[in-house]
Parts: sequence; structure tokens; C-alpha cells
Amino acid sequence: MDALDVAADLSEVLFTSDQIAARLGEIAAEIDRDYAGTNPLLVGVLNGAVMVMADLSRALSIDCAMDWMAVSSYGMGTHSSGVVRILKDLSTDLVGRHVLVVEDIIDTGLTLTYLMQNLASRNPASLEIMTMFRKPDAMKIEVDVKYVGYDLPNQFVVGYGLDYSGRYRNLRDVGILAPHVYS
Ligand code: 5GP
Repeated sequence: MDALDVAADLSEVLFTSDQIAARLGEIAAEIDRDYAGTNPLLVGVLNGAVMVMADLSRALSIDCAMDWMAVSSYGMGTHSSGVVRILKDLSTDLVGRHVLVVEDIIDTGLTLTYLMQNLASRNPASLEIMTMFRKPDAMKIEVDVKYVGYDLPNQFVVGYGLDYSGRYRNLRDVGILAPHVYS
């Protein structure tokens, strides 16, 4: 679906699918250059990063492997709980691998801070982060992000893998969720 299909639920469209694809192409070119000859392992964080992972990995010209983790973050609401639990772990051994974590969005950075400590303890050769979206709150906690798609205003957005109560993940564009949907 695109933004027109859910126009009444969005207060603003921030990025169209074409803009997202173009930005991902630029980032893929950087990753191609930085990881040439290293066969990096892309680690996607379920469920939100599914779209980014699918599009980023196919935009790369280099070989890469993919694996997935699931962690709890927001639950059903629109505010971070601060509680992080691993619901599904990787099946790949990280020792000596060049690991690139692929995220949909970084808000408070709580989820990712926990995840990075956990992954670093598994002795990868390198460990970096790519996120499609980042909010200003992410600046308050030190999260060293190597590749950022777009910085966002501090509002709750949906689309391109980002949901509200399980909805809007399949929206191709990204927009601000209208308050009447959750209030
Ligand atoms: P953090 O721990 O950085 O605060 O939160 C990260 C997670 O919160 C993301 O992976 C995502 O699941 C969720 N999240 C944060 N901001 C938003 C948002 O604006 N929209 C949606 N749909 N999810 C968000």
C-alpha cells in the first residue's frame, strides 16, 4: 500500500518509497566500498528491519550473509519501555566476522545499546550499525552509527517496516501517524 491508501491515518508523508530507494542506493555504494572482500554478515532486527534488509542487501554489489534477531522493545504502544529481551537469537557464529547491524529506526537508542553490548561480547572482527531512520533522542545516548538513512522529527512514524500495533508495516512510504489513530 502507499500513503494514498491510508491518507486519513497520516498527518504528514515524510519520505516516499522512491526517496527511500534512492537513499538506500547511496548507502549501499558506501557499504560496497567499505566492506569489499570481507563478506559481511548483515544482522537484521525483527520485525521492523525486514524491508530495509531486503532492499539494502539487494542494492549491494558485494557478497554478504544475513541473519536475524528479535528483541522486545515497544510492545503495543508508542513509548519505549526500556525493557529489552532477546526473543530470537542469531544462528551464526560471530567470531572473526564483519558484522553490520541493520536497523529500521533508532529512537532512544536503548534497544541498540543493549544489542551492541551483547553482540560485541561474541568477538566479531568488526561491529557497525546501519539504520534507515534516526530520531533526535538517539543523540542523548551514545550510539555510534556508521550509516544513517534519514534523521526524523521526534514524532511517531509508520511505514516501510515500522508498525503501530501491527499495522502499516507494508506501507511503502513513511509518514507521521495521525494522533486520532492512537488517542
Ligand atoms: P529505541 O530503543 O531506540 O527507543 O527504540 C527502537 C525501537 O522502537 C525500534 O526498533 C522500533 O521498533 C520502535 N520505534 C521507535 N520509534 C518509532 C516510531 O516512530 N515508529 C515506530 N513504528 N516504531 C518506533
